[in-house]
Amino acid sequence: MSHKSVVVAGAGGFIGGSLVASLRKKGYGAVRAVDVKPFEQWYQRFDDVENVVLDLNEKESCELAVKGVAEVYNLAANMGGMGFIEKNKALCMLSVLINTHLLMAARKYEVERYFFSSSACVYNGDLQHTADDGEKFIPPALKESDAYPALAEDGYGWEKLFSERMCRHFSEDFGLYTRIARFHNVYGPWGTWFGGREKAPAAICRKVVEAVVTGKHAIEIWGTGHQTRSFMYIDDCVNGIDKIMNSNILEPLNLGSSEAVSINQLVDIVESIAGIKLERKYDLDAPKGVNGRNSDNTLIQEFLGWQPSITLRAGLEKTYAWIYDQYQLREQGAEGVLREVDAVSQ
Ligand code: NAD
Repeated sequence: MSHKSVVVAGAGGFIGGSLVASLRKKGYGAVRAVDVKPFEQWYQRFDDVENVVLDLNEKESCELAVKGVAEVYNLAANMGGMGFIEKNKALCMLSVLINTHLLMAARKYEVERYFFSSSACVYNGDLQHTADDGEKFIPPALKESDAYPALAEDGYGWEKLFSERMCRHFSEDFGLYTRIARFHNVYGPWGTWFGGREKAPAAICRKVVEAVVTGKHAIEIWGTGHQTRSFMYIDDCVNGIDKIMNSNILEPLNLGSSEAVSINQLVDIVESIAGIKLERKYDLDAPKGVNGRNSDNTLIQEFLGWQPSITLRAGLEKTYAWIYDQYQLREQGAEGVLREVDAVSQ
């Protein structure tokens, strides 16, 4: 039980919505949930928190969002999977306005703690052109120092790296307590699962559901399927945010699973959950991002004695079941109904 008041920026999105759910359960004094999307489009909606629609690109909106709270969680950004970030670099970089204005407001209103959601996309791309062993790209485990010398993902990754430094300097120069996590692919229920911004786990779950429902037993995979990544289940992410926010660590920390798999292995797991085998078609021209990466969790274990531990299989079982239900509801023209009902009953 905490009597602190907090604001979650990006609360209408995947991770922000799940964080609001968790803060409510922990009994935080007052939770202010803020997002630019119209309220009815928020992924999870709760009627016992203060819900505010604001464009946090604007300085005045950030002041309204932050005034009177003790803690700020910045989960607001323009983002999506590879298909989105490769084609929307300017839009991704404009998220710098959100973090900058939130930091300025946090300073002005003397908030106690500030959290920034960074990304594994800050890491030097040269370290991720790794060898293919015939089945998968060997995934280099990226440690925090590998972000420099900098060669971040063009657009999205550079904005994250710059905003990390902005947090650091607000901390050093103005004494603002800032904490930063570099998320490695997060997935789970309530995440984007269609529309172009979805990431690999949700996209693959949806394609497998489609195959099950339509009887067309084929799946399109972007690239060779040898690209490797690690995927963190949402509960580990929310838990990690809480631990990092309440730690003494000024440096950005990896927050990701260290269980790296190839995209083909990801498809294997989802197929086995669905009890189906699909013909694989590879689209070699589709956006595929870096060859391979994994999260080096040495530092987080050292500092917190903890790291994400929910297995990919366990997390995907829940995610697949959720996307299956969402798919059915959408087919019935009732998209969003389940979201609302589930969210208020959590
Ligand atoms: P999301 O797209 O589901 O949520 C982001 C939310 O921010 C959206 O609801 C969006 O409407 C909101 N937003 C965008 N611009 C805004 C503005 N101007 N004012 C107010 N709200 C605005 O994304 P997510 O997966 O929940 O990601 C949350 C954070 O974590 C982001 O900073 C993202 O870059 C970071 N991250 C996510 C992942 C992942 O795998 N999901 C990986 C690395 C980093």
